[in-house]
Amino acid sequence: MSGKLGIKIDVDTLAGFAKGVPALLRELEEQEVKASFFLALGPDNSGKAIFRVFRQRGFLQKMLRTRAPAIYGLKTMCYGTLLPAPLIGAAAPEIPARIAAAGHEVGLHGYDHVRWHDQLFRWPPAAISREITAAQESFAALLPHRAEAFAAPGWQCSPASREVLRAENFLYASDTRGSTPYFPRFGHTVSPLLEIPTTLPTLDELLGLDGCRPRDFSDLVLSRLTQTSPQVLTIHAELEGGPYLDDFAQLLRRCRQQGVAFFRLEDWARELLQEPGKIPVAQVVNRRLPGRAGTVSCQGNLEAPPS
Ligand SMILES: [Zn+2]
Repeated sequence: MSGKLGIKIDVDTLAGFAKGVPALLRELEEQEVKASFFLALGPDNSGKAIFRVFRQRGFLQKMLRTRAPAIYGLKTMCYGTLLPAPLIGAAAPEIPARIAAAGHEVGLHGYDHVRWHDQLFRWPPAAISREITAAQESFAALLPHRAEAFAAPGWQCSPASREVLRAENFLYASDTRGSTPYFPRFGHTVSPLLEIPTTLPTLDELLGLDGCRPRDFSDLVLSRLTQTSPQVLTIHAELEGGPYLDDFAQLLRRCRQQGVAFFRLEDWARELLQEPGKIPVAQVVNRRLPGRAGTVSCQGNLEAPPS
């Protein structure tokens, strides 16, 4: 077996940024794998996510199933409520340059992860613009260039968020769940900003579902790598960079033994954009996924490329 795998690393919290990222950098270096990191550098309001319990079906269940309190720690779970929300980027400002120096891609994962996740669909375009500007400013304070890639917190994207990203000249975004890169259509409007979706389920979605263990999750990832199209796996600095680090390392080892080639999403985006006429269009639809609370933005049926 060979296959191609892009590893997308979402960093949502200060704990993930300051502790999970260095742990992942060590492991990726050890195994000579290059990946794509997406950072939320604004306030860590993880505590506010607790209030989703009252609003979203499945959140409490997921928190218990994945042992979130044990994983995230009590402090993280109080940020933005009982404790003030710390600014993630400012708390460990050396981290983004370390990621870039190791040859990985560094992109944005919003500014305030919780606020984007909970409020995006209620925001007017100006509010989305402010959020993305704040994200870019915090990025530019830590790295000598602006971010070219954006991954929406919680896989929540809207026509307005895509339009802001396009206007801000992002190279591509990774906002949705799907099967293959595409140009997203919202109603009759096709966004000219390339989307590279996450194609595989995440560990936290499947863990505990039907008795799924980390080893079963790795089996599933490896089985999907037999497909001819490249796959994109999203991991979380808080999980695979924390209590599931050994399981992630084991997955990487198994991939390498089987000849899997790893790629950074930005390199694939540049390659695809050399021939934009070959990139298909697909409607974006909001769906529920097994093991995830609320809905996420997903790729609908593929259509022919725009003429
Ligand atoms: Zn996230």
